[in-house]
Amino acid sequence: MTSIDYSFFGEYVQTVQHRAQVLYENAIGNSSIQSDLTITCLEELRVAVEELQVAEEELQQQNEVLVAAQSTIDTERQRYQDLFEFAPDAYIVSDLYGVVREANRAATALLNISHHYLINKPLVNFVADSHRSGFRAVLSQLTTIHRIQEWELPMCGRKSEPFEAAITVQAVCDRHGKSISLRWLIRDITTRKQTEAKLQETQLQNLELVEADRLKDQFMATISHELRTPMTAILGFSQLLQKRIEPLEDPQIESMVERIVRNSKHLLSLIEELLDFSKLKARRLELNPLTFSLNQLAIETVHELQSLSDQKGLALQIDCDNPNVSLFNDPVRVRQVIINLLSNAIKFTDEGQVTLGFWELPEGRIMIAVQDTGMGIDLKDQENIFQEFWQIHQGSTRKNQGTGLGLAIVRALVELMQGSITIDSQVGQGTTFRIELPRNVRV
Ligand code: ADP
Repeated sequence: MTSIDYSFFGEYVQTVQHRAQVLYENAIGNSSIQSDLTITCLEELRVAVEELQVAEEELQQQNEVLVAAQSTIDTERQRYQDLFEFAPDAYIVSDLYGVVREANRAATALLNISHHYLINKPLVNFVADSHRSGFRAVLSQLTTIHRIQEWELPMCGRKSEPFEAAITVQAVCDRHGKSISLRWLIRDITTRKQTEAKLQETQLQNLELVEADRLKDQFMATISHELRTPMTAILGFSQLLQKRIEPLEDPQIESMVERIVRNSKHLLSLIEELLDFSKLKARRLELNPLTFSLNQLAIETVHELQSLSDQKGLALQIDCDNPNVSLFNDPVRVRQVIINLLSNAIKFTDEGQVTLGFWELPEGRIMIAVQDTGMGIDLKDQENIFQEFWQIHQGSTRKNQGTGLGLAIVRALVELMQGSITIDSQVGQGTTFRIELPRNVRV
């Protein structure tokens, strides 16, 4: 809007006023033309001219207000235009037939077409062929339904890859409520869709894994049970047979029975491990705590493994500063933990010594450590060492017939005893496992 120039009008009013004034003064001074009517007329003219002057000033003021208002409107309009233009999402204004009338930069970028070519193009041109009739059907309903939110359909820009779009479209109405145009917000949700699909797939896989894990645990528990009973019988009868065979009666049979006993024992201990592990995983293993001497237990375990360490020429020793430490815990399970760590230490050490140590810690806790001078464990493997079936030294493990369950059971037992286990190892230098336990386990 341009402002109206009132200055000529002002000058004109001033001229008329001036002339009226002169005429009025002359009329008063000149008795020949003096008449009441003339004077009254001139007086009225003068007043009218003055009023005109006031009206002119008011008009000028109003004009200034209007000019200021217009400038504010222009600034606001520019601001909205910029917001529309630089919005991160694609905005389009179309007529009721979906023909593009306005489009912002994001829209031209999304549809890969210049602004000039996009204007006057029907939006349906950018909808995937398979969805065009559906798009038209919805378009014809828009004057009635007015708004559709997050309408998902495949679209395709000019000479570009198709993408998944989420469209929000709203009918714009005039003062009488009649739809006059459509306002479109179009978002490319291809990445979101792909992420959702991946997430769904992962969730499905997760469910399958959880189910597989449950079936595996169930299978392990059943198998271990089914195997344990006949294995116990085989071991029992072969030990009985061993006792009945007279020494040197038939050395071949004696050696065969001895092998049956040895292998049965080994198999039974593996079955026991599997059974313990499946119970621990199913949280069905319970502690039976009582008070016992840790020193006594250490002596017994070392004694039990003495022949194993002797066979390898290793020194097996106990290290403690107070032999009178007593624990309130499950001695069978504490023994199982120590035996597991000690037999691993002997298994994976070829020379030097294996030490079992225990010390009192503040706040009613104790530390048990098993230290060896063996092959050690690489730092990257230390993170996984407590996972079930994780074996690093495949060669030595096979030779030593491990299951890869030992440390998983140890950790699960230590956690059940409200304790924690850490490892400190260097390849070629040896390994130390440290366990911290409360002296009195809570039940
Ligand atoms: P396994 O029945 O195979 O011994 P574990 O869970 O007890 O199963 O141990 C897992 C793997 O950790 C072993 O196969 C071995 O590679 C490694 N390992 C355990 N203890 C030691 C140790 N003291 N020194 C070196 N490696 C060890």
